[in-house]
Amino acid sequence: MKYDYLIVGSGIFGAVCAFELRKLGKKVLVIEKRNHIGGNAYTRDDKGIQIHQYGAHIFHTNDKKIWDYVNELVQFNRFTNSPLAMYKGKLFNLPFNMNTFHQLWGVTTPAAAQAKIIEQRSEMEGKEPQNLEEQAISLVGRDMYETLIKGYTEKQWGRSAKELPAFIIKRLPVRFTYDNNYFTDNYQGIPIGGYTKLFEKLLNGIEVRLNCDYLANKHEFDSMADKVIYTGPIDAYFNYEFGPLEYRSLTFKHEVLQQENFQGNAVINYTECDIPYTRIIEHKHFDPVDTPHTVVTKEYPHDWKVGDEPYYPVNDDRNMALFKKYRELTKKESGVIFGGRLAEYKYYDMHQVVRSALNLINGEC
Ligand code: FAD
Ligand code: UDP
Repeated sequence: MKYDYLIVGSGIFGAVCAFELRKLGKKVLVIEKRNHIGGNAYTRDDKGIQIHQYGAHIFHTNDKKIWDYVNELVQFNRFTNSPLAMYKGKLFNLPFNMNTFHQLWGVTTPAAAQAKIIEQRSEMEGKEPQNLEEQAISLVGRDMYETLIKGYTEKQWGRSAKELPAFIIKRLPVRFTYDNNYFTDNYQGIPIGGYTKLFEKLLNGIEVRLNCDYLANKHEFDSMADKVIYTGPIDAYFNYEFGPLEYRSLTFKHEVLQQENFQGNAVINYTECDIPYTRIIEHKHFDPVDTPHTVVTKEYPHDWKVGDEPYYPVNDDRNMALFKKYRELTKKESGVIFGGRLAEYKYYDMHQVVRSALNLINGEC
């Protein structure tokens, strides 16, 4: 065996594992299907602007250890995510806060906003929310649901909000202060100069082979290492034995514009169902630079089929039952560890992936 560990995938999970294993003196090989490192957090340089190639990535966490860990590797800026939502030509602040309530109803005090929400959610009185629509109405009332949630959610997930699980919307904060910070975490930012710098640090001194699909040459790769850490899709590993797990996919349309500033904000969501994209991001506002041009990306959600990029796991009951069947099979794969958002079929944020990789290696060796 030439290597102690073969790591399949150079996203956050694979890269943190590689970094930690190298510190422990292990010999590691990382293979990556794509032509670059970094998984979905990868950024590329466009004449000084750092492009989030696979959608906006904002690092946020409440875990001081994780924040210190990534800050020891690269410097982060003080970016605070404060997206706007566009509905029929009118802009609203997100997440739901006093600015949004003022824009929608003209109220100016928390008491007036609370009274409005109580009135608006009365249709749900005494009922336990059974789906996303009911959850949203009990949280912020019908007006807010119709304006800012329904269209966006149905585009994003490709099905009626009545058929979606309530937990998806529980991620969004509702507050009675004039605070447009999307996240409630203590720490938030973006690596200055892009995420790829973070991956270069994590993978420094480690052999990385790009354009290598593990599943296309599994036996050969397996023979090269004692243990395998697999961060690809769990159903693909087992050749879709029980059928494919469902994902939502996305198409990113990047445009270079010969103007300094297109929309004045990093993220603007489009919440009408008639507009086919869910958001436009303008990359230079994540990590500000002075350039005569700008790059924007429209994000179009769509159904997923085998061969498309899997972005969001659809963690409904049917898919979770299928995932459990695959997870049972992993127990028979001696010497293979399954981790990260695709192998665990989990809606993971980056800080959770770092934590999970650190837990694995600390417990593993
Ligand atoms: P990935 O990044 O997917 O890495 C897996 C890697 O394995 C990929 O590079 C893939 O090419 C490779 N691979 C797969 N199969 C094979 C194979 N057979 N052979 C070789 N290589 C293989 N998180 C946040 O914290 N903040 C955000 O703002 C945020 N925004 C997001 C926006 C979007 C649109 C999406 C989709 C996700 C967002 N996330 C965000 C989540 C974040 O992207 C993930 O938590 C993180 O990238 C997961 O890392 P990973 O290593 O588990 O997986
Ligand atoms: N959401 C919405 N309107 C918005 C933004 C989000 O209805 O303008 C809903 C939507 O259902 C989405 C969920 O909130 O799937 C979670 O949003 P978040 O921004 O956390 O999702 P992500 O960045 O992971 O796509």
